[in-house]
Amino acid sequence: MKTIDTYNFKNKKALIRVDFNVPLNDKFEITDATRINAAIPTIKKVLNDEGSVILMSHLGRPKDGPEDKFSLKHLVKYLSEKLNTEIQFADDCIGKNAFELASNLKSGEVLLLENLRFYKEEKKGNEDFAEKLAGLGDVYINDAFGTAHRAHASTAVIAKFFPKDKLFGYIMENELENLNKVLSEPQKPFTAILGGAKVSGKIEIINQLLNKVDNIIIGGGMMFTFIKAMGGNIGSSLIEEDLLDVAKNAIEKAKKLGVNFYLPTDVIAADEFKNDAQKISCDSFDIPEEWMGLDIGPESSEQFAEVVNNSKTILWNGPMGVFEMSNFEKGTKDIAEQIAEATQEGAYSLIGGGDSVAAINKFNLSEKVSYVSTGGGAMLEFIEGKELPGVKAIMG
Ligand code: AMP
Repeated sequence: MKTIDTYNFKNKKALIRVDFNVPLNDKFEITDATRINAAIPTIKKVLNDEGSVILMSHLGRPKDGPEDKFSLKHLVKYLSEKLNTEIQFADDCIGKNAFELASNLKSGEVLLLENLRFYKEEKKGNEDFAEKLAGLGDVYINDAFGTAHRAHASTAVIAKFFPKDKLFGYIMENELENLNKVLSEPQKPFTAILGGAKVSGKIEIINQLLNKVDNIIIGGGMMFTFIKAMGGNIGSSLIEEDLLDVAKNAIEKAKKLGVNFYLPTDVIAADEFKNDAQKISCDSFDIPEEWMGLDIGPESSEQFAEVVNNSKTILWNGPMGVFEMSNFEKGTKDIAEQIAEATQEGAYSLIGGGDSVAAINKFNLSEKVSYVSTGGGAMLEFIEGKELPGVKAIMG
């Protein structure tokens, strides 16, 4: 397979699917440019080779055609500063104007296309739409890992129009390399830490990981479904009643496979779902009526720290508690710090999924772990063992 490093882009127009889905404030200023910044190396590689660049992305969730607040024109200024060059803008991602601007691009020049999702055809994976986009470039690069689990026109369908000239960008290459490192050749002991609100979103990944890990640690709102399945009293904590059997089966599967399944032994419970609620520390299997567990307790943190400390590979997805509220952030902070410490001592750690990334950033620890994945849903599906359409389209 060709890679971006071995490809010579001289005099080629590279059509790059990027993930510029960045948050904007009410003045349309970018409040977090991480995703744009991450794509710069791929763009620069093409420009340094004396090729030209056509950038395409979605932004937000436009419902019915163009909406000013979702226009990619708001990104032009930042992008031109970042690349230190003028950015041309096509106010429609297909059509005559886009085609002319693309045709006239000279080497070293950059064209940004308007939001792909102003066309319903994008999410539907429409082939005609994909072909029109494909007509703008000579070579296709997919560097949008965050949407790699979607079979959209610009993320997957389009690749067929570039049978020879289709490549992963650096972000995609990095993501796949790091995720493969964890899944195909993890150094043991391998510990997976899973948290977040619901079991339903994570049960497939838990079942998949049970075949690979030595330890699994469960925290967050989803722990209560497991605790109740084991006969615990969970008060008014979050619960998915319909998944009690599923949770029990996962625990039994772990036992059969010899995987250590860790549930918190203590929790911090609150009388209301708010930061300044009254709080108590209690046994996680004996939470009083009307109280809800919003974080793991200190005894659990200590036990988890020991497991993390003895691990060589660590995968973390999902917060241990309601970390957005300062009074219930401690369990998540403790685990993040512990992962950072284990990493300094030689373990390999991969953090992924929107909320754990937000947590690791909140505690300023992203530089202290081995890799932070940019893809929430895409990362989960990859770990579940599903084939990602965006990846398959390039490999196939
Ligand atoms: P997810 O998107 O499923 O990873 O869930 C992340 C969300 O789970 C975060 O917004 C947390 O605030 C929330 N969460 C974590 N622990 C709890 C808990 N014990 N009760 C309710 N929500 C929680």
